[in-house]
Formats: sequence, C-alpha cells, structure tokens
Amino acid sequence: MRVYIKTYGCQMNQYDSDVVSFLLKKEGWEIVGEWEKAEVILVNTCCVREHAENRALSRIGVWGKYKRSKNPSLLLGVMGCMAQKEGKALLERFPFLDLVVGTYRIWDIPELLKEAKNKKILAVDSTYQKFPLPDIGEGKVSAFISIMRGCNNFCSYCIVPYVRGRERSRPPEDILDEVKCLVKRGVKEVTLLGQNVNSYRGISKKKGNTYDLPDLLKELNKVEGLYRIKFTTSHPKDITEKLIYAVRDYQKVCEYIHLPVQSGSNRILSLMRRGYTREKYLSLVKKIREEIPEVSITTDIIVGFPKETQEDFSMTKELMEEVRFDTAYIFKYSPRPYTSAAKLPDDVSKEEKEERLNELLTLQKKISEEKAESLVGKVMEVLIERKEKGKWLSKTRTHRTVLVESGDNLMGRLLQVKICRNHKGILEGIPVE
Ligand code: SAM
Ligand code: SF4
Repeated sequence: MRVYIKTYGCQMNQYDSDVVSFLLKKEGWEIVGEWEKAEVILVNTCCVREHAENRALSRIGVWGKYKRSKNPSLLLGVMGCMAQKEGKALLERFPFLDLVVGTYRIWDIPELLKEAKNKKILAVDSTYQKFPLPDIGEGKVSAFISIMRGCNNFCSYCIVPYVRGRERSRPPEDILDEVKCLVKRGVKEVTLLGQNVNSYRGISKKKGNTYDLPDLLKELNKVEGLYRIKFTTSHPKDITEKLIYAVRDYQKVCEYIHLPVQSGSNRILSLMRRGYTREKYLSLVKKIREEIPEVSITTDIIVGFPKETQEDFSMTKELMEEVRFDTAYIFKYSPRPYTSAAKLPDDVSKEEKEERLNELLTLQKKISEEKAESLVGKVMEVLIERKEKGKWLSKTRTHRTVLVESGDNLMGRLLQVKICRNHKGILEGIPVE
C-alpha cells in the first residue's frame, strides 16, 4: 500500500509527518512522492494563520473531487492542528473524508488506517500523549528532534496552546538516545524543536533532577559523531545568560538564534501578551551579539495586529533597521478562534496590512542582501546536505544556504568554503584546503 503525505506549516509539523512516515514504513507501507500513485493521502494541516488553513482546505477539496470522480477507493485523511481544532466538523463539512486525526493521536495512524477501510475515523482528544520514536532520520544529514510539545504562553493572537496543549518536555535520556540513533544513521546536525525551547524542563529518568536547555546542550555537545546542534524557537522572555553562554562555549552548538520579536511597539507587545518590552528585546540582542559576535539572529513579525497604528508600525520598522536581522518571517495578522485577540476588532484594513507587509518585506530583503554581500570573500564552515541542480546545497553554522561547486562526492561533509558570489541572498562558494 502506498501513502502520500502533504505537510503544511512549521518544522514541528514536518517532524510529525516524518514520525508518521517512519511508523507506516515499519508496517510495510511505501511513502510516495506523487499523490496520483497513492492509495492513501494524508494532509498534515496547520491553523496558525487563516491563509495556511485556506490552502489546506482547498487542497482537501481538490482531492475530494478526485476521489469522487476518479478513485473512490482512495482513503483521504486529515491530521495535525486543523484536525485537532475542527474535529467532527471536518467530517461533516467534507463527507468524503475517511479519517480525522488530531495532534495527540498521530502515533496511532497505522492502526487507524486499518480501521478506516470499514468506517469513518474521528481520533481527536487531548489526554493521550506519546513522544515520537527515535530512528526517523533515515538518509538525512540534518534532522529535527522534538524536545517538547505544546505551549503555556497564550500569546493573545496564537492558537497553538489550544491545538497542541500544554508544555510537555521529554526526558533528557530519551533525547540523547534519539540523537545517538540518528548519528548512527548518518545524521550530522540536529535541530531541537519546541514552541519555546527556553522553557524546556526535562526530568531525568535516572537521577530525577531537572535539565534546562543549557544542561541538555551540554550533554548533546558530548555526542561523538554529531557535528552541529541548532534549536528553535527561543522566546525572548525566557532566554537566560546561561543559554547565551552555552551557545558561546559549546563547540557544536551553532551561532544561530531565532528570536521572534512580533512587534517593535510596547503597546502592541503588551496587547499581544508577549511578556517583554522593546527595550528588553534590544538589550537582549546587544548581550547576545557581545558574547557571540558571529551570531545570526532571525525573527518573526506580525503586521496589522488589532489597534496597530501607523506609529506602532513605524516602531517595528525602526526596530528592524536597528537590529538588522539576518532573516525575518513577516505575517499579516489573522484572528484565530479561541484566542483572546479574536475578541478585539480586526481593525487594520486588508489593504493597510498588505502595505505594511510589503514595506517590511522590502526592507528585510535589502538588509538580507547587504548582509549576504558582506560575506563574499570570507571562508566559512558549511555542512553539505544534498545535491540540487548539479550543485551541493549546504548550510553555514549561522543557517545560511551556500551552494558549493565540486565534482567530488561531498554528501554529509563538513567543509571550509570560500564565498565567491552572492546571488540575490544565496551564496556560492568553493572548497578550500
Ligand atoms: N512559538 C513561536 C514563538 O513564540 O515565536 C512561534 C510559533 S507560531 C507557529 C509562528 C509564528 O506565526 C509566530 O511567531 C507569529 O509571528 C505567527 N503567528 C501566530 N499566530 C498568528 C496570527 N493569528 N496571525 C498572524 N501570524 C501569526
Ligand atoms: Fe504561540 Fe506564543 Fe506559544 Fe509561540 S509562545 S506558540 S506565539 S502562544
């Protein structure tokens, strides 16, 4: 039996899709890259923004039509955040769906698929919880690892705590075992995933004591054969000096911090319930750069949050000019069910949101290109991840993409390359001795 999995949303969702693929392969399923060849299609959904949700809904509609008109025996399932949020309503809206599986039940998908042949499946609850299995990094140089799930922060605009539940941290031993297992399979770089990795608190199975993120990084730094460790996402309110020193001091931990600021206006930050001010954020960036001069800092920004005035927006723009982020992911606000911000009037017009978005995108593009240009001529360490269109695709420790030209087989190699060209923010380099 062949299954095709379409993934929307963040790295956490990508990881969940990897878990499901791994579990299905273990049961003899084949994972295919073309949906036309599949007997089962699973859509792993995101509901963080209305746009992501609409894309998944229209895709489900297209496959529903295909099932009805061309392939009635196709099993069509929806999993992930939107499945958790909508539950039964999805089955009612799309009668052609065979299964709906929420974020707590993805581990049961192999079993649920067997049942789905005879009846419709609704597997959405919030009590059952397992952590992913190790051993899913087959054929990869760089792999994600979930170190915690859920979130306790309840930022006023965000649906994540409602669809992924409260924070649960994995025991450090389980993470270490998973990393060692991945390294045996050829993985050289791991990215630790969590909505707020700075609040990681894993209880040791052996000693019963609690590990925070720097403690975990210290242990992972000792894993032989592992070259690099990255982590995301860091919440500005929870970053500690201990963590900054860990990034500075542990050789394998990369100089890369994703630190979503969301807004540069204190009034909006407070309405967003982010728990820090513009000044606190800026002093944090200063401290990080003092301790780790080579660091790359990236961010997320929301424009058009309720009550955001032109003045608030200008403060965000000024903050971006001051910090000069390496990359920024910029989003237009959309109200999400259950969230407290959804009770506020969504009073920034569509056109205004679009304008603000474009203004920030243009600014960030300019900054990113200037930053890329400043790297031309430098020698940087890269890890080769794969071959794409005749060139080796690699990443720096600071998470920049570098295309490397070489006739040798460089797969999985850690190399020093000289950056010789910047093409619209994508760097090109050649290996040096
Ligand atoms: N946990 C991360 C953090 O605190 O920064 C972010 C998780 S969320 C999946 C990714 C990004 O989506 C957020 O940083 C925010 O910029 C954006 N986002 C979340 N809810 C949104 C909404 N209702 N409208 C627009 N963007 C939103
Ligand atoms: Fe959402 Fe805030 Fe939690 Fe991030 S920290 S997942 S933005 S509630």
